[in-house]
Amino acid sequence: MTKFVYADNAATTPVSREVIDAMSVCFESAWGNPSSQHGKGYEAKALIDDARARIARAFRCNANELYFTASGTEADNWAIKGAAMRMKKKGRTHIVTSKIEHHAVLHTCEALEKQGFTVTYVGVDEYGIVDLDELRDAVTENTALVAIMFANNEIGTIEPIEQIAEIAHAKGALFFTDAVQAVGAVDIDLSQLKVDMLSLSGHKLHAPKGIGMLYIRKGVVIDNLIDGGGQEKRKRGGTENVPYIVGLAKAIEIAQSRIPELDEVRRKRDRLISELTKIPYSKLNGHPTCRLPGNVNVGFEFIEGESILMWLDMAGVCASTGSACSSASLDPSHVLLATGVPHEKAHGSIRLSITHETTDEDIDYILEVLPPIVERLRNMSPLWEEIVNKNRQ
Ligand code: PLP
Repeated sequence: MTKFVYADNAATTPVSREVIDAMSVCFESAWGNPSSQHGKGYEAKALIDDARARIARAFRCNANELYFTASGTEADNWAIKGAAMRMKKKGRTHIVTSKIEHHAVLHTCEALEKQGFTVTYVGVDEYGIVDLDELRDAVTENTALVAIMFANNEIGTIEPIEQIAEIAHAKGALFFTDAVQAVGAVDIDLSQLKVDMLSLSGHKLHAPKGIGMLYIRKGVVIDNLIDGGGQEKRKRGGTENVPYIVGLAKAIEIAQSRIPELDEVRRKRDRLISELTKIPYSKLNGHPTCRLPGNVNVGFEFIEGESILMWLDMAGVCASTGSACSSASLDPSHVLLATGVPHEKAHGSIRLSITHETTDEDIDYILEVLPPIVERLRNMSPLWEEIVNKNRQ
């Protein structure tokens, strides 16, 4: 039987047994509406209060700074549109973001451009680190918001968040960071981080899809995105998704408690990187050290990432070419292009994203099947033939 290795954890993660167990009480008995004025409602409300308090403890912030949403995308939309609309009332109509953001951020910024906001898309260096000089020049007294991701979902680069926050605040702008890929990979200490808003998503953390969260620092006021009932302190309407909120709290507690174990994940990541980059005409995408513990993104020249994925899938290995949300598109990754990788090389990149669940045997298996796939595809490539012939001369 073919072995199965799931190495696409940046796209989504399996829901953990502990999370399923924590959620089951909400389906079996605590199924009330948290807004109801009776025992069944109070029971559900108590579960949400407890979940919020536990997440606040895990991130060292105040429980009333946390708002549940239906996804990371919703949290990103709310932070950006809510801050833009609120700051517009103060005469600030400019937003600064980076060229390598997730589409949940980029497309939100584009939507605001259509409403009259101006947006500056700051570039990154060859490793995907935001250009701080360019950022400093971009932020002005007219800037409402700086929105820069904590860590990139494709190449895993971790951004210098503290410096970015300082630059935003020096001009009185708000700073929002999309931490969807960073939570569980970096210790998030909101008592120290100078961010005004931070988003996350449950399904990257072994909680289900369809639950996200936005942290809004005390004193920061943004407009609502979803109006409705009085839920979430009247800031986000909609009956609360009690089971998923309970599951998210469990997943965050586990993820934060596992931070000390990440060295093991890094060791496996580095083994993959070191072996895969021994393949001729291959290159690591992203930063060699400032990168997510489980992210490997390697480009192989003269072949297509999609073809590698197909062969990997047949061998039982799940990987990705980058962002799952745009993988249906044949355009090369906007992230790789922003780091200066040329079009033709950007097409040959794949991402392997591993976690504490990935074993040494899984790494061995990837290293057993992937190099022959690259070789096989190159042997079918006319471009590769040209290189071989040139090298023979
Ligand atoms: N931001 C980043 C960096 C992501 O990687 C993702 C998902 O891939 C999202 C936002 C969107 O999160 P969700 O899938 O919960 O909408």
